[in-house]
Amino acid sequence: MNWMEKELERLSGQSLERFVHASEPARGFPGYLIRGDRRLLNLSSNDYLGLSGNREVVEAMRLALEREEAGSGASRLVTGSRQANERLEQALAAWQQSEAALVFANGYMANVGVISALAGRGDVIFSDRLNHASIVDGIRLSRAEHVRYRHNDPEHLNDLLQKHRHARRKWMITDSVFSMDGDKALLHELVELKKEHGALLMVDEAHSGGIYGHRGEGLANQLGLHKEVDVHMGTFSKAFGVYGAYVSGSSTLIRWLINKTRSLIYSTALPPAVIAGVEKALTIVQEEKWRRDKLAASIQVFRSALAEAGFTVGRSDSPIIPVIVGDNESALRFSSILEDFGILAAAIRPPTVPEGTARLRFSLSVAHAESELLHAADRIRQAGMYAGVLKE
Ligand SMILES: *Cc1c(COP(=O)(O)O)cnc(C)c1O
Repeated sequence: MNWMEKELERLSGQSLERFVHASEPARGFPGYLIRGDRRLLNLSSNDYLGLSGNREVVEAMRLALEREEAGSGASRLVTGSRQANERLEQALAAWQQSEAALVFANGYMANVGVISALAGRGDVIFSDRLNHASIVDGIRLSRAEHVRYRHNDPEHLNDLLQKHRHARRKWMITDSVFSMDGDKALLHELVELKKEHGALLMVDEAHSGGIYGHRGEGLANQLGLHKEVDVHMGTFSKAFGVYGAYVSGSSTLIRWLINKTRSLIYSTALPPAVIAGVEKALTIVQEEKWRRDKLAASIQVFRSALAEAGFTVGRSDSPIIPVIVGDNESALRFSSILEDFGILAAAIRPPTVPEGTARLRFSLSVAHAESELLHAADRIRQAGMYAGVLKE
């Protein structure tokens, strides 16, 4: 086991070792968490719409637990599928205006399973360089040729599509909102390229579902491009506040996935209580538009406050706001000073982000009040100065 210790020493020496920390929700204080004996403002959660602690969602899950059992007992294809699964899938398809939908255990398993079920030898997959790790792993597992294009660079993608025009099938895959940068994919341009080159398009709406679109359908729908997306994927673990994921598209696509997706076929179906929670969350996501509106207002307030403090925050309107620091040590120092100030913002380091772009990644939730965000921005400015990442 010596080699492990050596590698761990190296990681530790480069401020790259990772740890797990227990964080409990702070009861009665939405938007905060408890770490050790301290209550911290939580600027690192993906619970954008505040649904994780929503009473209706929690109650739906409690009732399902009492009515049903703890586990589902088997995979979907054996005996793990209930009427509630089908009801949820119909509701998802209606919400996405697609023919059909299929629920997965989580986003990671959806991406790994779906990509490897769809693409294979002889195919080429064009993937944005900043796509989520689960997409990268799905591509690797598919055995298709993996071609990475420069982040949000349609010209580069066009050249690569041209170069690989003889591939059996061409797949384009992108995050709709990039998880560590918070910027959005250029979906209009990607749809143009897809048509021009006869490619298929898969979009991962993990960070945009619930947030964009009149009923929270996601970015493709907000831009009126949902009919052009061949494989639409989203998760229930972020804005939905629960757990799980789904894919929507044509009924042929879903029929194919039921027959070919190993992460679906060889894994136990989600527990009934999770399905019940997701069903309730889906209703709230569609009906409670005020959550999206409030989040959008908070994003503007917080982004402007950080920009005014001297940080470069980019131009996106997503709830993910990175402050790029550069080296790993400064990012850790920045994060640790903020924690002393009562604010939790995780330092994100390679390999999650490219070398030399270590950052603090702030993410907002409707649970935060505007006054809390303004106060936090001021503390972030101070911490930035102490950490030496913000010059006067
Ligand atoms: C979080 C995330 C996933 C994985 O979803 P989980 O449900 O957490 O497994 C997939 N894709 C993207 C872009 C994500 O941000």
